[in-house]
Amino acid sequence: MSNERKKLFKKFEKEHYTILVPDMCPIHFDLLTHCLEKDGMHMVIVTPQGPAAKEEGLASIHNDACYPALITCGAFVDALKTGQYDLNKTAVIMSQTGGGCRASNYISLFRKAFEKEFPTVPVLSLNFSGLEKERSLPLTLRRSLEFLHCVVYGDFLMNLVNQSRPYYGEEKVNETLNCCLEYLHRQIGHQAFYQRKKNYRYLLSQFKPLEPPEKRKPRVGIVGEIFVKYSPYANNHLKDFLISQNTEVVEPSLSEFVLYCIYNLINDHTLYGMNRLLNGLYKKAYKIALKETRIAAKALEGTRFEPFEDFAEIVENAPEVISTGVKMGEGWLIPAEMVSFAKGDKVKNIVVVQPFGCLPNHIVGKGMIRPVKERYPEENIVPLDFDASSTQVNQENRLKLMLANLKD
Ligand code: SF4
Repeated sequence: MSNERKKLFKKFEKEHYTILVPDMCPIHFDLLTHCLEKDGMHMVIVTPQGPAAKEEGLASIHNDACYPALITCGAFVDALKTGQYDLNKTAVIMSQTGGGCRASNYISLFRKAFEKEFPTVPVLSLNFSGLEKERSLPLTLRRSLEFLHCVVYGDFLMNLVNQSRPYYGEEKVNETLNCCLEYLHRQIGHQAFYQRKKNYRYLLSQFKPLEPPEKRKPRVGIVGEIFVKYSPYANNHLKDFLISQNTEVVEPSLSEFVLYCIYNLINDHTLYGMNRLLNGLYKKAYKIALKETRIAAKALEGTRFEPFEDFAEIVENAPEVISTGVKMGEGWLIPAEMVSFAKGDKVKNIVVVQPFGCLPNHIVGKGMIRPVKERYPEENIVPLDFDASSTQVNQENRLKLMLANLKD
C-alpha cells in the first residue's frame, strides 16, 4: 500500500472525517458501511429525497453523462449544500469497476464538479482494480473478505425480505430486517461474523414467521443496470410499486455482479491471454465467492424461501444468446439473468431497467430482449427507461401494460 494512501486514510480516521456514500443497495450498504465504521471511519449513506439531487446532478455535470453518474453526483452536491457537514472534514467515496464503461471514469467528473464549490472535499474511490492508487480505500485481505461476507449476508436478507414483503406488509418485515441487521452489526469485526451457518440459522429463525405461503403471487424479475436496479431513489421506488400491484419481486443478488466482475477477469486470460500472473488469484477469489453464495443457498433448504440462481448456471445460460466476452457495463450478465428466469418455471415476467446515457446497457438490456423472446416467447418482458426528467406516472403506466399480461 502506498505511503500517501496510508497517510490519507489515517488522517481521515484521526480527524474523524465524515465519508459520504451513495445509496445503492440499502441493506448491503448498511452492512458495508458498518464494516468501515468498525475500522474507525465515520460513514454516512446519502439517501436523497425529492427532486433536488436530480436537479443538482443536471446542474453539476455534463448532461450526456449517464443517469447513475448524474444522480450520484447530484446527491453528494445536495448533501454538501445542506450545511450539515464540515467541508474541511468531509470526503465522498464511490466505487469504480475498472471496466471500460463510465463507472470507471465518474471520478474525474465528480472532481471537476466539486472544484469550485467544494475544493476541500476529496473524492475517494473503492475499487479492486488498482485504480486511483493514492486516493482509493486500502483493501487488505481481511477487509476484502469482510466485504464479501457483507455482500452475501446482504443478499440473504434482501432475498428474505423480497419473499416475505408481499404477504406480510412493509412494517412487519422491516421490523424483522432491522433486528437482523442489528444482530449482524454486533458481529462485524469479530470472529462470529465468519460463522455463516450459525448466523444464517439465526436470520432464518427471525424470518420464520414471515415465510411465504405455498401459493405465491405472480413474480416479476428486475434485471438491468446495477444502480438503477437496486437504488429505490434512482428507480422511483419500482419495487414498492410492483408489490402494490400484487406481485412478488425477484431481484438478482449483488454477489452475481461481484462474481461477474471476477469471472470477466478470468475470461480476459482465456480469451485474450491477459492477466497471466494474476489469473490464479482471480480463480481462487471466484471459487471463494461462489462457495459463499452456495453456503447461503444451502441454508434455505427445508424452508419455503427460495435461493438465488446458482451463478455457475447463469454463466452456462449466457451463450444461448450472447458471448461471455461481452463485458461492457453489465455485459452478458443481463441477458444471462433473463434466460435463467425464462428457463425456470417461476419468473415469467421481467422488467429490464436501463438508465439514460448508458450505451452498454441499452445493447445488452433492451437490445437483448428480442433474442430472449424468440427463444422464450411465453416470457413477458418490458424495458423501462430512467432519466432525471422521466416521471413516475409515465413509468407506472408502462409497467401497467406489462402487468395487464401478467403471467402466473
Ligand atoms: S453501465 Fe451504463 S449507467 Fe452504469 S456506469 Fe456504465 S455507462 Fe453508466
